[in-house]
Amino acid sequence: MSFDHESAGTALNQAPDVFDVIVVGGGHAGTESATAAARSGARTLLLTDNIETIGQMSCNPAIGGIGKGHLVKEIDALGGVMGRAADRGGIQFRTLNARKGPAVRATRAQADRALYKAAVRDLVEGEPNLALFQQSVADLIVEDGHVAGVMTGMGLAFRARAVVLTVGTFLGGTIHIGDKRFGGGRAGDSPSNALAERLRGLDLPVGRLKTGTPPRIDARSIDYSRLAEQPGDDPAPVFSFMGTRAEHPRQVPCHITYTNQATHDIIRGRLHESAIYSGAIDSAGPRYCPSIEDKIVRFADKDSHQIFIEPEGLHSNEVYPNGISTSLSFETQLALVRSIEGFENAHITRPGYAIEYDYFDPRALNHALETQAIGGLYFAGQINGTTGYEEAAAQGLLAGINAARATRGEPAWCPRRDEAYLGVLVDDLVTRGTIEPYRMFTSRAEHRLLLREDNADARLTPVGRDMGLVDTARWDAFTARREAVAAEQVRLAALVIKPADLGDDHGQALLGSPLAQAQSAADLLKRPGVTHGALTGVAAIGPAACHGLSVEAATAVGEQVEIQAKYAGYIARQRDEIDRAAAHEATRLPVDMDYASVTGLSNELRAKLGAVHPATIGQASRIPGMTPAAISLLLVHLKKSG
Ligand code: FAD
Repeated sequence: MSFDHESAGTALNQAPDVFDVIVVGGGHAGTESATAAARSGARTLLLTDNIETIGQMSCNPAIGGIGKGHLVKEIDALGGVMGRAADRGGIQFRTLNARKGPAVRATRAQADRALYKAAVRDLVEGEPNLALFQQSVADLIVEDGHVAGVMTGMGLAFRARAVVLTVGTFLGGTIHIGDKRFGGGRAGDSPSNALAERLRGLDLPVGRLKTGTPPRIDARSIDYSRLAEQPGDDPAPVFSFMGTRAEHPRQVPCHITYTNQATHDIIRGRLHESAIYSGAIDSAGPRYCPSIEDKIVRFADKDSHQIFIEPEGLHSNEVYPNGISTSLSFETQLALVRSIEGFENAHITRPGYAIEYDYFDPRALNHALETQAIGGLYFAGQINGTTGYEEAAAQGLLAGINAARATRGEPAWCPRRDEAYLGVLVDDLVTRGTIEPYRMFTSRAEHRLLLREDNADARLTPVGRDMGLVDTARWDAFTARREAVAAEQVRLAALVIKPADLGDDHGQALLGSPLAQAQSAADLLKRPGVTHGALTGVAAIGPAACHGLSVEAATAVGEQVEIQAKYAGYIARQRDEIDRAAAHEATRLPVDMDYASVTGLSNELRAKLGAVHPATIGQASRIPGMTPAAISLLLVHLKKSG
């Protein structure tokens, strides 16, 4: 599908206009969604209520972490925005779990908020098929059960064949600070009440969730001499497969402090002020990012909680005290902050708060993230009950891809659980739903040795290329890296190393013991503790040929060769397991299947199956409460109904 690039702006000026895809919301889901749709060739409009807040981080200034870093690498492998923006905005980079196995190693970047946001905006504005327009969307145009566009707050109609809603925490957003409460999408932004009303009137299951953020503190009022410093890694990892360290801005350390008994006493004495404990909010908050008052109640026996002091930016005096999210009154926030070591004279620049908002049960979506009730209407991000920038961005990307594909009559792209964390995320959401903000963990993936950060490009860049999402520069860089890995594997397999090549000292240093007999360099690499770096430091082996690759890409080649050598056996075993389960994943269930007519199924399971409408037997088997006997009944029913 071609789009007249030059006239995007002109076409927009002649509103109403028909777009292929309209994305509503310029947050993390929206920017990935809009750029993905546009990259794949769809004529796309990003409608957001404030262009200045495109790419804004509502809460902590950080990208990645365990499970989340995996999603960022997958987004990047498909040509997305987040990894590239993190490289341009990151002011401290670390590889978490660096000493653990490759499946759970994860990249995390502390970001300069302003630089990150500017990078996202730059990448969005650099997308030729994408037009931007600043307006709040107040209504959906729905015709014959299919979305046909949106209406803005000032009554402008924009028509499109698919609409992706990525409105985050804004739907009916209510902010709580102590007993004060007011409408807001996040601090400083208005809530989306008109759109919330419209959506509540549709045949979609709506609920309320909450999240919160800590007060921000002026760094000049903190006594850093009393705090432990936490530097980033040196050399710093990069996020994007196209990234280089040269893109990173100046790197700075974070610091660590702790709550103490006095802090906990203050909080315990003021719990009645908290929106949750006073009963003003009864929705669920993020289990893995609880407020400090939640932590004091839930972990009553702990006498201290860690706080990471994260700089908000290179040109900002504000810091983000990660670990003390709160909705207590401002007076209590000040008292609890000042009870903490190093914060005795702290000046709070922004109060912490909790926010409650509408979300929609994601079981009402299919694997393309399209609502089952309204054709062409896609939901992505916090609106689906998730929490986190990365989870939002990943869904946005997938919804954007599928919205664009649908307008071209192409089948949806729905990665399987063994192909991508993206597949795990979406399958978890649409199959199991969520009653509390969902965040990604590596433990959610059953085949995590296959779904590593380091091989996200090998898993997804070829698919992305086929779908028109990966440009030539990325494709060339990917194929060069892939060829370098293959060439190095062949070279090491053919290189026979004799004991004399290593010498006793070298053998001892490299292998922990002298080499007893000749072995291929590839076999040496399989030994525990032998790294590709150390192996190629041996004169008889020498470095890998990585002509034309950046230093970062060449390091990635060595890492890849090492991981594939060491984990080949485990990886083969996981592939066997996947092959065994493949039959269930391939057995499709009709979308309109009448579960009431399946003999022998309990009413509870009938209701659950009817709510989810699983696409396959494999998905049905993951619905909570599903039993092997029930799966057999479904298979029998399928067979009988031909
Ligand atoms: P958002 O980033 O919220 O973006 C929504 C976008 O939609 C915005 O650009 C907005 O302007 C736009 N918009 C909204 N309504 C309309 C409309 N009607 N018309 C046009 N545009 C519209 N995540 C964590 O992982 N851990 C945390 O501890 C955490 N705490 C948080 C605390 C607070 C107070 C908030 C607000 C968020 C917190 N988050 C946290 C969540 C994190 O910010 C979100 O997960 C992430 O931003 C979701 O991305 P999104 O794209 O879905 O939505």
